[in-house]
Amino acid sequence: MRRVSILGATGSIGQNTLDLIRRVPGEFQVVALSGGQNIAQLAADAREMRAELAVTADPARLDDLRSALEGSGIRAAAGEAALIEAATLPADWIMSAIVGVAGLAPGLTALRQGGTLALANKESLVAAGPLMLATAAAHGARILPVDSEHSAIFQALVGEDRAAIERVVITASGGAFRDRPLSDLEHVTVAEASQHPNWDMGQRITIDSASMFNKALEVIEAHEFFGLKPDCIEVLVHPQSTVHALVGFVDGALMAHVGPPDMRHAIGYALNWPDRRALPVARLDLAAIGTLDFAQPDPARYPALDLARQVMATGGHSGAVFNAAKERALDHFIAGHIGFTRMSVLVARTLDEIGGGAAGEITLESVGRWDHLTRQHMDSLVVA
Ligand code: NAD
Ligand code: MG
Repeated sequence: MRRVSILGATGSIGQNTLDLIRRVPGEFQVVALSGGQNIAQLAADAREMRAELAVTADPARLDDLRSALEGSGIRAAAGEAALIEAATLPADWIMSAIVGVAGLAPGLTALRQGGTLALANKESLVAAGPLMLATAAAHGARILPVDSEHSAIFQALVGEDRAAIERVVITASGGAFRDRPLSDLEHVTVAEASQHPNWDMGQRITIDSASMFNKALEVIEAHEFFGLKPDCIEVLVHPQSTVHALVGFVDGALMAHVGPPDMRHAIGYALNWPDRRALPVARLDLAAIGTLDFAQPDPARYPALDLARQVMATGGHSGAVFNAAKERALDHFIAGHIGFTRMSVLVARTLDEIGGGAAGEITLESVGRWDHLTRQHMDSLVVA
């Protein structure tokens, strides 16, 4: 039996991962599960999967978790050190599905085990790509991308010579406000921004899809993970969310990855890799779909995309600054402190004022310092 742990088990990616594991009884031994505030879900999953350890990120919820697990023999723990412990328990495959840069330290810890890290947490690559890759290399660990676009690129590259890549096209649905008049965007609500036209995901990534901060992170993620030059990476708006990415080769061929918008494909690919096994995703009826549309993203509607270019050109810790600024702007939008369009304005300003380029080696500590500084700066802009 393969031993697996899921960091961020109670979230959208975590629950989809558990769904796949549940369907093949006897194949996986669940070692550790982590969650946040949803103690009932965490405890129920830990009991069902007979996990060894259940961790809530919030120390204030430890007693609740202990009570929910009473009599099960499953150990309960809480807080950052416990998350690290969850990533330390021996496992062959660990899913990194915490949202935000909070997933970085547990992800790095998991890589030090030398097994496989299924990486949904794109923020760790954006904030600390070189550190993630160097840690994997130093410990013989493998990172398998779980973001659907990056899984698509990864699959299109099987058997190919990476030197023959000419370009990569990442698609974007366009999010909740693709067809809204630009003048409305200033006043859209959090509830409206939390509705994705095609994908069912956590709230934060759903709002990031409406602003295309998610796509901006994904462009940087592709740059870091596949070592692609920034100008090789293109973004196209593709409202059907059926073609997830395309890889263009020097001979002019484009290999497209086509599938339903269901994260269980990318998760299942990483779970079964290097094999392909049956997955419970819908089979596309292309004749029923009929038409696939592609368009250039409008920079005025999606200013986050240009910021990603700026970050890739700057390098250093600018990814950590960008990610932290984006996370904090999103916190303020969700809390009702700023409007939707203010997010990109304030992130751009923070990037200009904090920078983050040419700042020495990228370590967990250095990323933490830039992250902290950036959040403080963003907060000062929101108050001002
Ligand atoms: P989610 O909000 O549904 O779940 C997040 C999980 O992280 C939960 O288990 C939550 O308890 C935990 N968590 C939240 N804050 C935490 C903290 N500070 N410390 C520790 N744990 C914390 O998010 P999601 O949509 O499942 O996304 C998870 C990750 O996967 C993100 O990085 C996201 O960008 C990426 N991703 C998600 C999807 C998707 O379809 N949902 C697709 C591609 C990539
Ligand atoms: Mg994606």
